[in-house]
Amino acid sequence: MSKRKITIVGGGQSGLQLGCGLLSNGYDVEIVQNRTADEIRAGKVLSSQCMFGEALANERELGLNFWDAECPTVDSINFCVPAPDGSGNKAIDWNGKLDRAGRSVDQRVKIPRWLTEFERRGGTITIRDAGIDDLEAYAKSSDLVIVAAGKGEIARLFERDAEKSPFDKPQRALALTYVKGMLPRADHSAVSFNLIPTVGEYFVFPALTVNGPCDIMVFEGIPGGPMDCWKDVKTPAEHLAKSLWVLDTFLPWEAERNRNVTLTDDNGILAGAFAPTVRKPIGRLPSGAPVLGMADAVVLNDPITGQGSNNASKAAKAYLDAILAHGNRPYDAAFMQATFDGYWNYAQYVTGWTNALLQPPPPHVLNIMGAAQAYPELAKRIANGFDNPPDFFPWFAIPEEADAYLKKLAA
Ligand SMILES: Cc1cc2nc3c(=O)[nH]c(=O)nc-3n(C[C@H](O)[C@H](O)[C@H](O)COP(=O)(O)OP(=O)(O)OC[C@H]3O[C@@H](n4cnc5c(N)ncnc54)[C@H](O)[C@@H]3O)c2cc1C
Repeated sequence: MSKRKITIVGGGQSGLQLGCGLLSNGYDVEIVQNRTADEIRAGKVLSSQCMFGEALANERELGLNFWDAECPTVDSINFCVPAPDGSGNKAIDWNGKLDRAGRSVDQRVKIPRWLTEFERRGGTITIRDAGIDDLEAYAKSSDLVIVAAGKGEIARLFERDAEKSPFDKPQRALALTYVKGMLPRADHSAVSFNLIPTVGEYFVFPALTVNGPCDIMVFEGIPGGPMDCWKDVKTPAEHLAKSLWVLDTFLPWEAERNRNVTLTDDNGILAGAFAPTVRKPIGRLPSGAPVLGMADAVVLNDPITGQGSNNASKAAKAYLDAILAHGNRPYDAAFMQATFDGYWNYAQYVTGWTNALLQPPPPHVLNIMGAAQAYPELAKRIANGFDNPPDFFPWFAIPEEADAYLKKLAA
């Protein structure tokens, strides 16, 4: 019997992870990718891509963890809220250790290496910006077409699921600044997460980039507020200066770590915004042929909880398992829906938690985040929730459950 042919449109985190996994299991796989490895390597940063234990384990299982020795580890989550009186003190400050270290490998490093690995394992890479006509051709020549095109235009083929998408516009003005020379935290490494009420969030963590270890600053500005400040920034130097202005103005303890920083490179910056959107998983081509969406193409969350690459890895794993379990049966619409539903059983919690953090925190969430300073067990649970967001439910989402849990901790 001939090998089953699977075409994946989009060679990013999810597409390449799934593609390599399928090749290792004897499938014939083509990845259609609109940017070459060289273009990605020489281009702007794409993400802050901090990944936690489970997602990293998925990569390791497929032999894709090429940077374990060089990439600095993220060992904890630290959470701070500045005091409202403008004194420069902290109202809340706690640290929770991660059971398994996280890591962030710049996608400009990871994706080119994975493209090479995919070809080494026997996969075919076609460099093309795929459109609907291309999808029609792939649907004819393949047993299954998966669209893993991230935020690419082609994802509009999948209808927006209004029930699962509470927002129709961006909830944060986003910016990334990759730097060298940041002072490490005093105790151990962390995603250092700072919530500045009515202004936005800033988080920062160590990573590996094109020229070695670095730190990545992520700014999440509430639209119209003072951290929504990137539109007039024209040059890399201005971008760095604006980043430092935010820290000097709102987070003096973070500013202290940055007296001598420089950009990793002129492409180590990004600014933009997008609306978090969940889409229906099956796209219908004009011919009626179905294609299946994966990861950001159909479940796009704001980066506030740093889950997108983690989700992409978990989606790729869920889809690989579903394809392997399906054997030789046809990949019809029922298979596609069931495959997505299996992933959504998990991802719905990530989307729910992420969307909740985009809203002003309700009293029970403020209670939880404050109480974690008194209860290390709670700090640790919140930290490890970044690796497994379903663990936040129901106690983080429902006020009565939060109260009951906090009472139990105090007993
Ligand atoms: C500012 C910011 C910070 C982030 N920080 C984090 C973080 O700390 N942790 C985390 O886990 N996630 C983070 N993310 C999200 C994470 O980067 C993405 O969720 C993840 O890369 C999605 O993987 P994917 O496979 O769905 O898509 P991608 O990795 O985006 O890959 C899609 C690929 O498809 C290609 N493509 C698009 N259209 C076409 C087409 N028509 N034809 C062919 N190819 C096409 C693209 O060029 C790209 O290579 C962040 C994102 C942003 C914007």
